[in-house]
Amino acid sequence: MTLLYNEPCFLQHETGFHPERADRIRLIPERLAQAGLDARCRRPEWERVARRRLTAVHAPSYVDEVWSLAKSGGGEIGSETVLSPCSYDVALLAAGCACDAAERVIRGEDRRALCLVRPPGHHAMPGYAMGFCVFNNIAIAAKMAVDELRLDRVLVVDWDVHHGNGTQATFWDDPRVGFLSIHRWPFYPGTGSEDETGGGAGAGTTLNLPVPGNISRREYLDRFTDALDGFAAKIKPQLVLTSAGFDAHRGDPIGQFVLETEDFAVLTDRVMDVADAWAGGKMVSMLEGGYDPRLVADCVAVHLERMVQRNGDAVE
Ligand SMILES: [Zn+2]
Repeated sequence: MTLLYNEPCFLQHETGFHPERADRIRLIPERLAQAGLDARCRRPEWERVARRRLTAVHAPSYVDEVWSLAKSGGGEIGSETVLSPCSYDVALLAAGCACDAAERVIRGEDRRALCLVRPPGHHAMPGYAMGFCVFNNIAIAAKMAVDELRLDRVLVVDWDVHHGNGTQATFWDDPRVGFLSIHRWPFYPGTGSEDETGGGAGAGTTLNLPVPGNISRREYLDRFTDALDGFAAKIKPQLVLTSAGFDAHRGDPIGQFVLETEDFAVLTDRVMDVADAWAGGKMVSMLEGGYDPRLVADCVAVHLERMVQRNGDAVE
C-alpha cells in the first residue's frame, strides 16, 4: 500500500491573509475520499521531529528563534514567512512526518508515501526562514537517511515551480544527496541557474533545469524526463524523495506557469520510473507549493492515484 499522511493538524499553522494559508489543503480530504483513494492507503501515526534531526540541517539558534517567536504569539520571520502560536509545533510535525515516511519506506514497510504537510520546506535555509517555509522537511528526511539510516545515495527531485534553494544549499557539497530541480526562470527566489551544479565533494550532484515561463508542456515534460533519467543513472539512488509543488499549474495564482492537472500524472510516473529502476520503488513525496485550493486537491488526487496504481501493479 501507499502511506498517506493527511491530518488536520497541518491546518493549525494559521497565517491569516497570506498565500500559504490553511485553505490550500482544506479540500484535499474530501477530494481523496470522493476518488476512493484514502481507503486504498495506510495512515500511520507519527511524532514530531527529534531535535537532533532538526539541528542536523538547521542552526540551533534558528530553531530556538522559531520556538520563541511562535510561543510569544507569532509574527513575521524572515522573508514572507509568518508564524502563529501553533506554528512551531506544526512545523515539527511536518518535519517529523517526512522522517517517519522516509524511515518506513527505507525499512521496507511500504514502497511509497505521500506527506500532505504545511508549512512547506524547500526554501527554508539552514539558518533562516524563507518563501513561506520554516523547516526544510525534505532536507531533514534526506539528511536522516544518509546520516542515521546509512544510505549512501539519495535523490531529491523538485518540480515545484520555484527553485528549491534551501534543499540545494543543504546538500551543495554533499555527494550522498543528489538534487534535481526544474523551475520557472527567471522567477523567485532567483537561484537555480544551470551553472549551479554543487561544490567540493558534491560537485556535479546538483542539477538545475531553469525553464522559461512560455515553454510548451511537451517540451517541459521531455526536458524533465531526459534530465531525470540521466541524473538518476549517475546518482544511482537507494531512495527518491520528491518536492511535489503544484504551483506550476496553469491556473495557479502565484506560479502562473503552463502545466495542466494531468501533467502531474506524467511527472509522478517518471519519478516512480527512476525509483523503480534504481531504488526498489522507494519514493516519498512531500507537498510544497500550490495556492489554488481546488487545483491543489485535483493535482494531489492525480499524484496519489498514480502512486496507488503503481503499487497495485507491482509484484509485492
Ligand atoms: Zn513554489
